[in-house]
Amino acid sequence: MNQQSDHSIHEQEHLALLASTQVVIKKALQKLGYPEAMYELLKEPLRMLTVRIPVRMDDGSVRVFTGYRAQHNDAVGPTKGGVRFHPNVTEPEVIALSIWMSLKAGIVDLPYGGGKGGIVCDPRTMSFRELEALSRGYVRAISQVVGPAKDIPAPDVFTNSQIMAWMMDEYSRIREFDSPGFITGKPLVLGGSRGRETATAKGVTIMIREAAKKRGIDIEGARVIIQGFGNAGSFLAKFMHDAGAKVIAISDAYGSLHDPEGLDIPHLLDRRDSFGTITNQFKNTISNKEMLELDCDILVPAAVENQITKENADQIKADILVEAANGPTTLEATEILHKRGILLVPDVLASAGGVTVSYFEWVQNNQGYYWSEEEVEKKLEEIMVNAFENVYQTAHSRQVDMRLAAYMVGVRKMAEASRFRGWV
Ligand code: GLU
Repeated sequence: MNQQSDHSIHEQEHLALLASTQVVIKKALQKLGYPEAMYELLKEPLRMLTVRIPVRMDDGSVRVFTGYRAQHNDAVGPTKGGVRFHPNVTEPEVIALSIWMSLKAGIVDLPYGGGKGGIVCDPRTMSFRELEALSRGYVRAISQVVGPAKDIPAPDVFTNSQIMAWMMDEYSRIREFDSPGFITGKPLVLGGSRGRETATAKGVTIMIREAAKKRGIDIEGARVIIQGFGNAGSFLAKFMHDAGAKVIAISDAYGSLHDPEGLDIPHLLDRRDSFGTITNQFKNTISNKEMLELDCDILVPAAVENQITKENADQIKADILVEAANGPTTLEATEILHKRGILLVPDVLASAGGVTVSYFEWVQNNQGYYWSEEEVEKKLEEIMVNAFENVYQTAHSRQVDMRLAAYMVGVRKMAEASRFRGWV
């Protein structure tokens, strides 16, 4: 398959992802009694910028990369959300991701709307210097529409604190003053927050614990499968292992490792590379598809979109499915899982720990006063537990599935803010 058709296949998939997000937004707004015009406002981002970023590569040639920044809704406050570096990034994907960020901010009650960025590139094949040039070029290209009180980027798939540092430095140079509040997920020495690196996984851990309580499952000894060994997946494997759970399978983009007795997580964490690749060091791997269908108590997709679909939803054996990734389960699959009585903790709730601690980071940058790790963790815990209860109770009282409940909780604040501003 050539690169072009490969990309258009992803585009088709992402368009479907966006369409299903819009379906749930529409249902949520209807349930909450908002007029059609509110849906018209919230179904797409307010702003979408496409940029072209020329980068001089190490071999002397120039490559021009395509990047995006979507700002979904800024009625509540500045937009907020990560930047993804991935070869499959497309415009509809970035749009869907920006809408999900708005929902996350609503669910954990942050003073933000959602934003998202992406660059079509494969950082696994680029040198440190090329990545720096690309990161800086992206900031120069979007600098007019972002800022600490406008739109605040952060890490996402294949971006990390070093990339945030370059981006912060570039922005500060453009503005001619130090602007740590421009971006979150920075290294500690540049104004990063304690607890940010592990925040998404910590939030997911709290969600697993709360969901397990509802289902009467003891975390100690529970069999857990984690798809993806990046920032969220790898720290989550550690936290689950530390809590006495049996992590029986993990995976990366190339394959999966399985041991019914529980994998040696500390050993795997030591050997993973910075992109979360690990399975290439082992012979006895199974496929990602096989892994998702293994018998387990808790399944956590922590990688990419569209992993649980109508093709495999009937084969999922878990009692609880917690979405650490954005968009891993399609709408048809959500319906099948709901009918089968599997407790689903949807992405916009489960992965909101990352943006929550990003908010703490931004607050600390604005205050110039830095908190202890205990303080960050205590506040994160409180916010995530409340958010879970809120969504869980909404699902029960309104007789809807957990995804629709999360959308109802998530969309309300931005709809109210848009109404008060007189937009709708
Ligand atoms: N990229 C993360 C997410 O999808 C974090 C965003 C942020 O910290 O602003 O939630």
